[in-house]
Amino acid sequence: MDFLSRTRYVPMNRRRRIYEGKGKILYEGPEPGTLIQHFKDDATAFNNKKHEIVDGKGVLNNRISEFIFNHLNEIGIPTHFLRRMNMREQLIREVEMIPLEVVVRNVAAGSLSKRLGLDEGTPLPRSIIEFYYKNDALDDPMVSEEHITAFGWCAPQEMDDIMALAIRVNDFLSGLFLGAGIRLVDFKIECGRLWEGDMMRIVVADEISPDSCRLWDIQSNEKMDKDRFRRDLGGMLEAYQEVARRLGIINDTDRPIGGGPVLVK
Ligand code: UDP
Repeated sequence: MDFLSRTRYVPMNRRRRIYEGKGKILYEGPEPGTLIQHFKDDATAFNNKKHEIVDGKGVLNNRISEFIFNHLNEIGIPTHFLRRMNMREQLIREVEMIPLEVVVRNVAAGSLSKRLGLDEGTPLPRSIIEFYYKNDALDDPMVSEEHITAFGWCAPQEMDDIMALAIRVNDFLSGLFLGAGIRLVDFKIECGRLWEGDMMRIVVADEISPDSCRLWDIQSNEKMDKDRFRRDLGGMLEAYQEVARRLGIINDTDRPIGGGPVLVK
């Protein structure tokens, strides 16, 4: 009994594991061309140098990402998302991931503030797109379109598609969060190639959650995202819960996530 009460939640599964990252696991899906994306409770920052378990974070990110991807699909922005399966898992289409982090910024913060000496919170003259090459050994270096096409990570046409997707996602998310009293400072997406027979299109993949966005309360500028963890501000789970509540994903009567079993409708 003592053993049981002390072990934390461990994903147990008989399905074939395809890939395990810092925050998620991908399993083989029920049909060819599908995968199951499992959200873990691990919070990591600075390329895994900081690592903690935040009970319930995976459940919240699964729900928030589901909500956003469903909306993107509805407005005709193609994504890998099919449907949520349970508290921590969603069914997705298998795509060929492009090894880039695509960052869109509306307001100066984080690495941009540091690099260019801009005060955090300075509005940018226009939305800015940046690219980072996904490579842990190199700490995800920033790269330009030139590097990306020269090294063949993406064709020039694909870059155009990725930038158009990124701007559409930014426009949609900015409005969505504004309606919830939240400023979308910046965010990161990842894209993949979805093959349908001989046809290929670029789709939004991975996740969109407070782990991958900077979200500030419109009134108080309070941080409601992973910076609470990165900067040791505390209250990370409560902030994610507040994002979910304001988006109407969970309501006041729901039991707090992380404190015990939670009924997910
Ligand atoms: N971001 C992310 N994963 C990363 C790096 C950045 O999701 O590996 C997100 C981050 O949450 C923020 C945006 O991308 O919303 C811009 O991050 P930035 O370049 O300022 O880097 P950071 O300050 O997070 O190191």
